[in-house]
Amino acid sequence: MAIKNKNFKYVNYKWSDEFAQKIDPVERLVYRSNILGEDQRITNTGGGNTSSKIMMKDPLTGKDVEVLWVKGSGGDLRTSKKENFASLYQGSLIGLQNIYNNAEEKGAKTEIEDKMVEMYNHTIFNLNPRASSIDTPLHSFIPFKHVDHMHPDSVIAIAAAKNSKKITKEVFADEIGWVKWQRPGFDLGLILQEECRKHPKIKGLVLGQHGLINWANDDKECYELTLSIIEKAAEYIEAHNKGEQTFGGQKYKSLSEGKRFEILFEILPKLRGMISQKNKFIGTIQSDERILRFVNSNDAERLAELGTSCPDHFLRTKIKPLYVDWNPTKENLGALVIKLEEGLYKYREDYSAYYEECKHPDSPAIRDPNPTVILIPGLGMIAWGKNKSESRVTAEFYNNAVEVMRGAEAIDEYISLPRQEAFDIEYWKLEEAKLKRMPPEKEFAREVVLVIGAGSGIGKAVSHRVAKEGAHIVCADVNKESAEQTAKELTEIYGVGIGVSGTGISNCGAAIGLYANVTDRKSINEMFKNIILAYGGIDHIIITSGIFVPPDLEGKIPDDKWGLTYDINVTGPYLVADEAKRIWEEQGLKGSLTITTSVNAAVSKKGSVAYDTSKAAANHLVRELSIELSPIVRVNGLAPATVVEGSSMFPRDRVISSLKKYNIQFTEDEETGILRNKLAEFYAQRTLLKSPVTLNDQAEAAYVLASKRLNKTTGQIFSVDGGLHEAFLR
Ligand SMILES: [Zn+2]
Repeated sequence: MAIKNKNFKYVNYKWSDEFAQKIDPVERLVYRSNILGEDQRITNTGGGNTSSKIMMKDPLTGKDVEVLWVKGSGGDLRTSKKENFASLYQGSLIGLQNIYNNAEEKGAKTEIEDKMVEMYNHTIFNLNPRASSIDTPLHSFIPFKHVDHMHPDSVIAIAAAKNSKKITKEVFADEIGWVKWQRPGFDLGLILQEECRKHPKIKGLVLGQHGLINWANDDKECYELTLSIIEKAAEYIEAHNKGEQTFGGQKYKSLSEGKRFEILFEILPKLRGMISQKNKFIGTIQSDERILRFVNSNDAERLAELGTSCPDHFLRTKIKPLYVDWNPTKENLGALVIKLEEGLYKYREDYSAYYEECKHPDSPAIRDPNPTVILIPGLGMIAWGKNKSESRVTAEFYNNAVEVMRGAEAIDEYISLPRQEAFDIEYWKLEEAKLKRMPPEKEFAREVVLVIGAGSGIGKAVSHRVAKEGAHIVCADVNKESAEQTAKELTEIYGVGIGVSGTGISNCGAAIGLYANVTDRKSINEMFKNIILAYGGIDHIIITSGIFVPPDLEGKIPDDKWGLTYDINVTGPYLVADEAKRIWEEQGLKGSLTITTSVNAAVSKKGSVAYDTSKAAANHLVRELSIELSPIVRVNGLAPATVVEGSSMFPRDRVISSLKKYNIQFTEDEETGILRNKLAEFYAQRTLLKSPVTLNDQAEAAYVLASKRLNKTTGQIFSVDGGLHEAFLR
């Protein structure tokens, strides 16, 4: 299939000779993998693999030896680096065929097949620690230097069509062969080897109900071949495009974007609660034209029930999504809730029945029976995962599934994998082992934490501290740029994860920055809307925002500043709690609210009447809210004292006025940092523990208060003040 021109319409051509010439053969493989993985139409996140057989010097003998470099287990082509590739002695891998052939019982899903995976460890070249994937024999046994195995929607559409073999021949003539569905493994490798022997002219194979594998002895040629096969499949599908009759035409109308978001905001907390009874889930919303065309269509219900096809997808999307037949223009929200409840009940029953029907005596225990993909006409798709990255992958895979169904239905009729085959992948012992090998989930991995005041000081430190425990952090601040800055810092540390999907704000990573003015209920409501659309729910709120208006020499502040002090320090946390109440109640999931008050609430003194009384009111607000929000939400107060370090509450003029007040020596030309240290040291000496109270001390306490470690504590004020006996509560 010679490349006539590089103007592909359905894939992006990205090869650069100039770049490829400068790098070594292994780097060329990484390069090829990255540019293939960058295009979602070529392969899905985490899906597919690539390989090159490269001559290298054997560290044992010093002689040249052929090494198979193949994408290892886990990882993703788009983001792969050299360390994501396994390297194995090609000769030894071929040698493994003897062991396999001598087994008494062999073939797909036999004991020897799974055992061969462990044997790959004996063929490792140069102590490379990357674990080999189950696709390794596919790459090794194809007698060509470079092999690409991709999951392109257009080719899977052909692979998942009822007359797949016939259509493959029609589209690709004798250049591309076809093999029927078989689970990847040693035996499939041998089948591919045999196909290459029987048909020496073919350049690739459509793997029935799975994907594409193709090869060449030159890496650039292999890359271009991959693209041209996908292009050809896409052209064929577009030639059969059904236009308005796609998916049997439209049954329901979409809602306007505003109305859609309004309903999603109403429904998502309840839905998250319904599916999170065993484990909490994080959501991703997809409501673009493509997904709406599917969920609104006449065929959506039938096709959704058939389930996804590419085996790569099952672990994320489950065997099928939950489709809810709700008429967005005729039925109301109440009807949707009832249909969701009924739908979920039936889904769980179906899932248990599928497990019981397909399980083997040694199958792993049944997993969470809730759907991970929910389709609602007029609204779109809601995908769920154990964290944001996973939920984005789930949504991405179902986007792929929809595109595969569109293609297959355009050219023929879509068929899914038989249930038993789907089960044998979902509950494959090797997959279970992979799940077990994963590091344990972090303490806040499934939690969404809102930090108000996250742009600076304690709020910023708290955001960093809780993010360290795996939380999704909504950084909110009245200074939006500073909130976004904190979110950016978190994203730089922890990454955005994988998975390409999500509409609007739902396309986000594990940290976002939002504007919030706690004195304005509308702004709080707007913030919650964004949070719900981004993650599907909320678990914890930590409020660190506050105001201290420096008094004049008589210790007074203007009357309007009294109002402002109470608005920010008392009414603000109340408004946040009041707006969050509905969300928490509808979710019905355990959560927490932490309000930052102050030790000043308990210590009477001269000069800061407004601030101190507002904090006393905030302490009592904690107690009242703990009653109001029980039993699902714990409410506690964090009472810091004199955190001077990095605090927006201690600008230079306040530091100086305090230094003067306490007769501490300083000169006007000293830097603010130095002045702050002087003040912090003075304060430290007044405490029982004699050391300055830091932002990190506050952050640690806020984290513990939100965590399950204190899950029997509510209505309490927790002082972090270095020990101020006059602030002891009694
Ligand atoms: Zn595959």
